[in-house]
Amino acid sequence: IAADEWARAVDAIQRTDEVCLACHVCPDGDALGSMLAFAQALRALGKPFTASFGDAFVVPRILRFLPGLDLLTDPADFPAEPDVMVTFDAAGGERLGTLAANAGKAGELIVVDHHASNTRFGTTHLVDPGAAATAVLVERFIDLLGVPLTHDIALDLYVGLVTDTGSFKYRSTTPEVHALAQRLLAMGVRPEQVAREVWDRAPFGYLPVLAAALGRARLERDVANGLGLVWTTVTRADRAAHDLPYDLLEGVIDVVRRTDEAEVAVVFKEDDEGAWQVSTRSKGRVDVGRACVALGGGGHPTAAGFTLHGDVEPAVARLRGLLTEIEVSTR
Ligand code: 5GP
Ligand code: MN
Ligand code: MN
Repeated sequence: IAADEWARAVDAIQRTDEVCLACHVCPDGDALGSMLAFAQALRALGKPFTASFGDAFVVPRILRFLPGLDLLTDPADFPAEPDVMVTFDAAGGERLGTLAANAGKAGELIVVDHHASNTRFGTTHLVDPGAAATAVLVERFIDLLGVPLTHDIALDLYVGLVTDTGSFKYRSTTPEVHALAQRLLAMGVRPEQVAREVWDRAPFGYLPVLAAALGRARLERDVANGLGLVWTTVTRADRAAHDLPYDLLEGVIDVVRRTDEAEVAVVFKEDDEGAWQVSTRSKGRVDVGRACVALGGGGHPTAAGFTLHGDVEPAVARLRGLLTEIEVSTR
């Protein structure tokens, strides 16, 4: 990111009377953690702001411990024509859902993101596909604004960092990532408490739902030029039988993707409206982000997703084709 992009962004925040913040729909730890960290920095600066996210305005259960949730505003009350708007972790304008219209009317639209599939929407681009998380860029932004870290800002940034690096397991886990983690832990963040909130807990109903999903998993060894595909579904009926809310399904893909015989893992999760939210993962030899872009979604080369309105079987057929076409990376 060029120095003058950072300077533009800082200048826009300093000169405006109100900053409008939005992260992507169905926010994950990086989207919401990044935005709430920034919101708290603006509060420390005494700068008025509005912070929200589009579509169903529901904070996922696993993120309900984040500091700063009280700073969120219903998207219905988001300024229609923001002077300065900042987006977090959104690869394209459509990832803002209903707030895409507000972004379209913004005088200055600062995009803070780390997706390779970023569409370069907006007027100021704080976009670095080399960053492990949007939270990495937000830490820099907050520093440039001259706001000192607090425990609560550090906790929000840490949640972004730890979720997007898969608990410091993914390829994106660099020495710089650990240096940032060190800075955040030094502010008093407790990693075991974060892990307990985000991953290491679930109601008992999670176990039978996971069992149902794993029980119908299919391994297709011939897909992706012999690299293999494993996929399964979690239906509304599975969840209804055990009273399990949709937003507790995030961990299913992490079990399925262990499969040695498959380079690519896919989980189709049926949401409360009957649409399928599809999570895809690869081990690094196939770019699932490109496959998901072709299916109307997006993401990173090794972690991506899309929304499916329709049946699963034809979508798996499309995926088989895409995964076989997409060149195997040389990494
Ligand atoms: P997850 O499977 O954890 O929901 O998503 C994995 C990654 O895929 C996320 O980091 C996000 O960047 C991306 N992703 C998931 N769903 C969509 C989608 O519908 N559109 C886009 N553009 N990206 C998505
Ligand atoms: Mn995200
Ligand atoms: Mn992210």
